[in-house]
Amino acid sequence: MMEHIRNFCIIAHVDHGKSTLADRLLQLTGTISERDMMNQVLDSMDLEREKGVTIKASAVRMVYTAQDGLDYELNLIDTPGHVDFNYEVSRALAACEGALLIVDATQGIEAQTLANLYLALESDLVIVPVINKIDLPSARPDEVAQELENLMGYPAEEIVRISAKEGINVAQVLELVVNKVPPPKGNASEPLRALIFDSHYDSYKGVIAYVRVNEGEIRSGDSVKLMVTGAVVKPVEIGVFSPGMRPVDALRAGDVGYVATGLKTVAECRVGDTFTNPQRPAAAALPGYRKAKPMVFAGIYPTEGEDYPDLRDALDKLQLNDASLVFEPETSQALNFGFRCGFLGLFHMEIIQERLEREYDLDIVVTAPSVEYEVIMTDGEVLRVDSPAQLPDESLISEIREPWMALQIFSPTDYFGTIMDLISKRRGVFVSQEHPAPNRVQLNFEIPLSELIVDFFDALKSRSRGYASMDYQFLEYRPGNLVKLEVLVGGEAVDALAAIVHKENAYHKGQALVSKLKELIPRQLFDVAIQASSGGRIISRANVKAVRKDVLAKCYGGDITRKKKLLEKQKRGKRRMKMVGSVEIPQDAFMAVLRLE
Ligand code: GDP
Ligand code: MG
Repeated sequence: MMEHIRNFCIIAHVDHGKSTLADRLLQLTGTISERDMMNQVLDSMDLEREKGVTIKASAVRMVYTAQDGLDYELNLIDTPGHVDFNYEVSRALAACEGALLIVDATQGIEAQTLANLYLALESDLVIVPVINKIDLPSARPDEVAQELENLMGYPAEEIVRISAKEGINVAQVLELVVNKVPPPKGNASEPLRALIFDSHYDSYKGVIAYVRVNEGEIRSGDSVKLMVTGAVVKPVEIGVFSPGMRPVDALRAGDVGYVATGLKTVAECRVGDTFTNPQRPAAAALPGYRKAKPMVFAGIYPTEGEDYPDLRDALDKLQLNDASLVFEPETSQALNFGFRCGFLGLFHMEIIQERLEREYDLDIVVTAPSVEYEVIMTDGEVLRVDSPAQLPDESLISEIREPWMALQIFSPTDYFGTIMDLISKRRGVFVSQEHPAPNRVQLNFEIPLSELIVDFFDALKSRSRGYASMDYQFLEYRPGNLVKLEVLVGGEAVDALAAIVHKENAYHKGQALVSKLKELIPRQLFDVAIQASSGGRIISRANVKAVRKDVLAKCYGGDITRKKKLLEKQKRGKRRMKMVGSVEIPQDAFMAVLRLE
């Protein structure tokens, strides 16, 4: 019965308690037993649990007997909690009628609170605000309730105040879901349209598509057609998550569940695509489909050349589950054989890097990230360049265009000045400001993406003592006065250290990079010259002096544990070294270009 279904999600700024609340709701409805209760069930990957963030959306069906004595089917759809995954968030929201907006009572409204709220409003969701963490001594629920009233007109005194951790007032949240979130609409006798709002790869059942049926029904045994790709598949199984996979005979309009497609990669079954019935197809796919577009690129290389096939296998496996990860083989003079990889953003890149290291136990070197440039050649040809080393000779280029982003920074008003200063150092342009909450300002800027991926978030955090948060979206490509900055170590150009920089900053960055590299490159048995060059001219140079003594000679035989420690340290350092010509360069050096002010 559709009147007894509620499809909702939880949206929040990172760390405000979304996963913790989800766990409580699962417990309270008896969806999982105390015994099976592990912390944060919805975050199923280890890395997510450790990082405390939700990477993939998931869905779970709960049965709840409300105060009105009726049983309700509550489908909770978990959304990813980071700006890199905004598209996935928007598709998960499209599968819901309502959203719980969680706000931490000690932090108040933050950038992703707003970003997610706006996304939810775009999807016409009913928003139920929830103030969390009232158990903390620094909680200020009244103030935060007032902030929320000012922001969205929801009466402050009606906003539920909970502690997800302690389980305080959590039952009220379920009542609110039943009473405030409308039941789904949609006719079960119309041609099938089901939105794919997430997917994951299962080694037995192939790609599992998470679906919300908008109209019509899918019966077990029916074939389905993907309206964007045109592919027709015969599902292995259809079912619901409760929270494990449980097969059902049919999914009808209003339902949330899964279709086990048997497909081999998630790329064949993309988030945002629509399932229809091939015998009785719908006239048009559901709106909002977009193909994920990588925005940030970096080279990933095995530290030991013999690990190359393992690295390729690992990337292949990760891609099964992640349609937005792209990669192709790349050769570097400095790093030999590896892969050029494309990511949705920096955070996505970090996740992939960590998974390669932890889950696949690979020692890798990752080069400094780059954006994709549009290079207009003098002959009119347009090249897309995502690796600085690949930039053609200056004389052949008539214009270089770079991606610009719309950037929103949300901060206490105190940090206005220092944020403006950071933005101007990073070539950003001020657009406007708003005051969505007292003593809080939302600053809107336009800024090149290349400036955002170079340590921007850390700089913002340190300038605002951790209080500012941000969100950004792609705007357009704009021409820039850009040049290639090259680095030579021991007289050899190190392609993996090349960067594309703004011409005005080239000299300064060249010097900063050389002095940083001088610190990072360990002494070798001979002097090593480090040089930066741009437009064919050397703009900076330094020497790493030859090492004089063996590293152990300092210890005079005495303290054996100290000796061991030194050796250990050396060994660890070595794992992340790369030979360039006859010079050993540590992983840090390849990232040095990231940390230049
Ligand atoms: P998410 O990023 O929104 O999913 O946030 P999590 O649910 O992972 O919570 C982030 C952190 O806040 C974790 O350390 C939780 O234990 C903690 N937390 C969540 N809810 C509460 C609460 O009600 N009270 C307190 N004191 N801590 C909470
Ligand atoms: Mg979480």
